[in-house]
Amino acid sequence: MEVRHLLLAFVLLTHGLTTLMWWAAGTWLGLSRKAAMHWLVASLCNGLALACMMLTDGWPETALALLACVLVVHGAVSMRRGLQAFLKLRHTDGSHLILGLGATLFCLGLCLPMGWRVAGVVVCSAVIGWVMLSTARECFAPLRTEFQVGTAWVHSALLTSVALMFAGLAMSELLPGVVWPWLLDNAQQAQVGMVLTSVTVSILSAFVLGYIVVTRLVRRLEHLSHHDALTGLLNRRAIEYLLDREAQRLHRFGEPFTVLMVDIDHFKRINDRLGHAAGDAVLCAVSQALQAQAREVDRVARFGGEEFCVLLPHTLHDGALLAAERLRHAISQINIPWADETITVTISTGLATANDSLEALASLLRRADDALYQAKAEGRNKVVSAPDRVAAA
Ligand code: GH3
Ligand code: MG
Ligand code: MG
Repeated sequence: MEVRHLLLAFVLLTHGLTTLMWWAAGTWLGLSRKAAMHWLVASLCNGLALACMMLTDGWPETALALLACVLVVHGAVSMRRGLQAFLKLRHTDGSHLILGLGATLFCLGLCLPMGWRVAGVVVCSAVIGWVMLSTARECFAPLRTEFQVGTAWVHSALLTSVALMFAGLAMSELLPGVVWPWLLDNAQQAQVGMVLTSVTVSILSAFVLGYIVVTRLVRRLEHLSHHDALTGLLNRRAIEYLLDREAQRLHRFGEPFTVLMVDIDHFKRINDRLGHAAGDAVLCAVSQALQAQAREVDRVARFGGEEFCVLLPHTLHDGALLAAERLRHAISQINIPWADETITVTISTGLATANDSLEALASLLRRADDALYQAKAEGRNKVVSAPDRVAAA
């Protein structure tokens, strides 16, 4: 078997696998379906283009070169379109249509019958370079914002290197023997070098695209696992983790903190009288108000049902009592429009300060809960402080 055949098999295998990967990501795993389908087309076009460049014996060389160029133009356009869909950028379908159709008509409709190989290759290389640099420019800021700055740089560097590769290709067509003179001396070596470079760039770009798709997916899953779907607040799992961290800090550095257990008063009546949807609207309004009133460093979570937990790091009893009263007052002032009436609610709060590093977290939460029950028993719309651990014992 000749080196060329081996290379052809390698190209078909790598691009086949990349195409399969995007097909699986889009249809099977449902990951950024639209972007995955565009990248599938891009991978297919690039694989076929490389195969065209390598089928030299017995095939019309100019036709294959022109076809390869047209395929790479379509591949570049699809890659850009996929990124625009993935990063929710402005679509540039009009210019993509003009570029794709223009390159196809120019190369296959004009250059091919006229035998203008150089013109076709140069025009397509210019189009590909322009698409790559435009993509790098428009994607840099969104990639840097959503992912790390390194991802944005690697992506831009890859696209720029592709643009440079095609600039080199156009130059070698325009000035044969001047640019890269060894190209003529050792055609097979040049072909191997070109194919390996193209395959490396294809694999690297599939890797970068795969990385950003998977990173976004992992971040979404993390967000879902830490947040409540209805209110968007942290959920019980997340606040328990943060409480545990604060307890460790108290244990190690003696830093106190306070927990507020907040419960909406007579919430069931709202559900029963106005329906579950009204209850949900109240939960969202209360969540927003709690979040708005809390300090940046405080953490507000939906603990379950109509119960919330507020963590006040580095806060002793007196400061926490002021904060809890501020929250109670703010909630009593909100008006929630529903149908043709306005719903108002109040909250009861149990407050417990952790300043004893020997106290277990469960005991702290029990004290806050007991204080909450006392607030309910004392008529609701009230903040009750739990006695400290020694007094409670
Ligand atoms: P109290 O003042 O003693 O706290 O009385 P309450 O009516 O607020 O408390 P109770 O525990 O009797 O009722 C809580 C209700 O919250 C019962 C449950 O159906 C409702 N609930 C729990 N989760 C949700 C939710 O996600 N949406 C809605 N709409 N209701 C919920
Ligand atoms: Mg309640
Ligand atoms: Mg309750």
